[in-house]
Amino acid sequence: MICCHCDGTRYFYFSPGSGPCGFKKLPPPTILAWEYRCFSPTLNPGGENSAMAHDLERLKQRIPLLEYLQRHNWKPCRAGTRQEFLGLCPLHHEARPSFYVNAHKNLFYCHGCGRGGDVIRFAQLFLDLPFRRTVAHLEQELMPASPSQLLQQAAAFYQLQLHRYPEATRYLARRGLCDPAIIEELGIGYAPGGNLRDHLAGLSYPFDRLLDTGLINSQGRDAFCRRVIFPCCQHGRIVNLYGRSIGQAFPHRLLPRSKGGLFAWESVSDFSIVILVEGLFDLAILWQAGFRNTTCALGTQLTSAQLAQLADQPGRSVCIVFDQDDNLAGQRASHQLALRLKSAGIQACIVQLSHGHDPNSYFVAGATAADFTDCLERAQQL
Ligand SMILES: [Zn+2]
Repeated sequence: MICCHCDGTRYFYFSPGSGPCGFKKLPPPTILAWEYRCFSPTLNPGGENSAMAHDLERLKQRIPLLEYLQRHNWKPCRAGTRQEFLGLCPLHHEARPSFYVNAHKNLFYCHGCGRGGDVIRFAQLFLDLPFRRTVAHLEQELMPASPSQLLQQAAAFYQLQLHRYPEATRYLARRGLCDPAIIEELGIGYAPGGNLRDHLAGLSYPFDRLLDTGLINSQGRDAFCRRVIFPCCQHGRIVNLYGRSIGQAFPHRLLPRSKGGLFAWESVSDFSIVILVEGLFDLAILWQAGFRNTTCALGTQLTSAQLAQLADQPGRSVCIVFDQDDNLAGQRASHQLALRLKSAGIQACIVQLSHGHDPNSYFVAGATAADFTDCLERAQQL
């Protein structure tokens, strides 16, 4: 039995047991410690700085202490009432939990080191910052980062995972992608599932933000689980992520937001002849084969913005290389798009590959850049 009396008062008695923390408390715990004395108050309501006190109170309300602690990897166990939690003190090393949090009161108290207070006090001790800098830091945490910054973080994380998971590199090899420079340039990554949320939480992104963006679902699971990821950029910012399933899930997934303009348009728009494909694996394999004038609409239906991009230079000609589908969907879509481009004053031609192929499968089946050039030369003008 351990008696915790670091500040001279006996509050709790612990004995090793089979509770969720491996500890069992004999008397039901209450966090009354701060009710006997005020631990390092961070504001003085009613004083001359009452406006500041009001701001600080608001700040504390907007950053629930428990959420802040969990974001910094504190592992709570429920202790006593629904609002009380117990765990190891994040402020010093200890083997037995003596750090209590009352989520309702938004306060903590550690019976090991005798320190306690609110979220500002905790952050001050945890980050070892002066009071004003702590407040500024917490305010910064509340500033919503732009969605593009969040997507940037997610894409960078996925990119790091790619080479850690053999199933992902095997999939890329199966799709004919083997040039590390192209894989790097396209920012291709992999979502193994199960770790994005923790990573982004560690960067102080609240759960709701991740949920809003669609990166995770309401259970906290990675929406792109077991998908190869391509970041879709526009004007140097990531506007969406495309995920290709490598398992049984539906093959294609984009986040529920605009897919943006034509893929990599900034680098393709200088070409007077542009190759337009349906999918990003088509684009990747054509880039790898040297056809850097390839762009992708992420599907066969171009948005008005994508159509306007194709028309942004007079005299441009567009070679449409959509899938050769058994049900002729790709061929029909090519024809409709060619007519749409023509009526917008853009010269268009339809490129036929061998039956059943898309550009990716065409190269994977052994075609060379010369074979593809032949197909381009035989393209049907409209
Ligand atoms: Zn402590």
